[in-house]
Amino acid sequence: MTKDIHSARADFPILKQSVNDHPLVYLDNAATTQKPQVAIDALVDYYTRLNANIHRGNHSLAVQATEAYEGARRKVAGYINAERNHEVIFTRGTTESVNLLAYTYGEKFVQAGDEVIVTQLEHHSNYVPWQQMCLRRRATFRILPFNEHGELDLALFERMLNEKTRLVAVNHVSNSLGTVNPVEEIIRLAHAHEVPVLVDAAQSVQHIAHDVQSMDADFYVFSGHKMYGPMGIGIFYGKEKWLEALPPFLSGGEMIDNVTPEKVTFNVLPYKFEAGTPNVAQAIGLGVAIDYLKQFDPLELQNYEEDLLTYGLNLLAEIPDLVIYGSPSHRSGILPFNVNGIQHYDMGVLLDTMGIAVRTGQHCTQPIMDALHISGTVRASLALYNSREDLEKLADGVRRIIKMLKR
Ligand code: PMP
Repeated sequence: MTKDIHSARADFPILKQSVNDHPLVYLDNAATTQKPQVAIDALVDYYTRLNANIHRGNHSLAVQATEAYEGARRKVAGYINAERNHEVIFTRGTTESVNLLAYTYGEKFVQAGDEVIVTQLEHHSNYVPWQQMCLRRRATFRILPFNEHGELDLALFERMLNEKTRLVAVNHVSNSLGTVNPVEEIIRLAHAHEVPVLVDAAQSVQHIAHDVQSMDADFYVFSGHKMYGPMGIGIFYGKEKWLEALPPFLSGGEMIDNVTPEKVTFNVLPYKFEAGTPNVAQAIGLGVAIDYLKQFDPLELQNYEEDLLTYGLNLLAEIPDLVIYGSPSHRSGILPFNVNGIQHYDMGVLLDTMGIAVRTGQHCTQPIMDALHISGTVRASLALYNSREDLEKLADGVRRIIKMLKR
């Protein structure tokens, strides 16, 4: 029996409160989602019952904590359909995962004159690490632009690929425009040139169907806190052949096999990439968040959120002087807009006085804002606990602010 999506809201205690004397309408989910009670309880339970450092201990708590942590890894591997559990590496989040790859892949596989391709739709976290790596390695940082719809041009992408291309980094869903990028096709084209692809799934893994094996992603990264799990935990997935070939990122405890003054040999996967004491409680919390998500039918979830998005975009489109950014044929989770003559920041502050939480500004995507010649947008973003009523309150709030400021 799958869980009814309409019952989800009740599972999130933070949503029951009022903010500025109004029932909270939380529409800042692309920044971080709220957590169901079960995921919060998992953190308390870990520290109440289980806390011990993992892997190295042989006492009962250490063994149980290790089992719980490795159980969480298995849940993540199952959730993204990784072929092997040890292809799943715990990190602090998407940003750390991208940096892990940029440093290790750059050191091993990128030489002066080589090329790396990112897109103009990337979050800074999947842009700056590649730009910096290219500067360190004297490689060329190439950027695939987006068109007037906020979509990537695959014909242009194909022409950019050549024998010097070493890696492609692309998000599945843009955090600023919500564009769903054709990552399967991008991967297919890149693989035809034997180029591996990193998929930044920070805005997709919680919203749209995903399967790293059928997608054939070489690397796939996301953050726990954007998918109803705790902060401070994220995932770096890599195909085994790549993880074996890459050097370690951070070094220290746990990632070693044998240490002498002259040399060190490294631990097996996944520990080679998990130096130091990991975020054990957060990993377990992420596992519980995945259990929570798996109660819903994934297609029903996707359809529910897509209906909600269309409903919200239609409501906003009826508001005079309101501009919606991008018109991609497939959009997920994001409503990006501005009202002519009203600063996005002011709109955000005024919506907050009504208990409506949205984000304003560049959303860590200055290249997108520069291309659109704007300083930022108002961004409402969705999660499974949002309802049509939330979007009606947003549209109503925007109308009231327009009236107030333009009188
Ligand atoms: N990539 C995308 C597409 C994102 O939306 C975000 C977060 N806004 C990140 C990367 C960075 O995630 P984190 O801050 O959790 O590392």
